[in-house]
Amino acid sequence: MAGNKTALVISAHAADFVWRAGGAIAKHQTLGYDVTVVCLSYGERGESAKLWKESGMTLEKVKAARRIEAENAAVALGVHDIQFMDLGDYPLILERDDKYKLVDIIREVQPSFMMSHSQYDQYNTDHMYTTSIALEARMIAQAWGHNPGEKVLGAPQLYLFEPHQTEQMGWKPDTFLDITDVWDKKRAAIECMEGQEHLWDYYTNVAENRGNHFRRNSGGQSGGRPARYAEGFQSVFPRTVDEL
Ligand SMILES: [Zn+2]
Repeated sequence: MAGNKTALVISAHAADFVWRAGGAIAKHQTLGYDVTVVCLSYGERGESAKLWKESGMTLEKVKAARRIEAENAAVALGVHDIQFMDLGDYPLILERDDKYKLVDIIREVQPSFMMSHSQYDQYNTDHMYTTSIALEARMIAQAWGHNPGEKVLGAPQLYLFEPHQTEQMGWKPDTFLDITDVWDKKRAAIECMEGQEHLWDYYTNVAENRGNHFRRNSGGQSGGRPARYAEGFQSVFPRTVDEL
């Protein structure tokens, strides 16, 4: 693993990284990155309705089922490492020591870029809370006074992946990633999410629509790339460039 570029995806619940960044994960793995996924919770209370409709279900059974699904999806995407912090959901809450654990992961991974949720999500406050935590942990990881002697974090971009009800969340993509060549991996990961089968075709449709935006913004009918599937992201920090 020495020398590989790295990326870090911070997912509120066990399945979020699949719908929203599965293509980016698979694509960067094929580009030689080691992608680490951190799931802050399993989404056991709030995003597991199908499992809760089964008789005899318990919180521990739901968590175990969601963990297996997420691990299978991670394998399908080629994820380098997936970590589960098991912090509970609805609501998701991180105490100071939980934040420091996340900072430890960020400093260990030293990501070239990070990914998390939209900054606003009125349907799912766990999601927007996760983004504020990602920003906070990134900030702490950059602080020279936090655990002096450790390697301080540089300035990785934070890409916000697409929320579920896009237009209502103030999320505006400024980056489209062509995931056509890894679409089969993303679809396979999506199908690992057996508890949320109602979303499989919805997120296939999202990827097709973003493919259209990729085509249009890469030149359209005047030389645009024929991307069939894409993911959209909103970046938080400015880019530093030598040439426009
Ligand atoms: Zn979620």
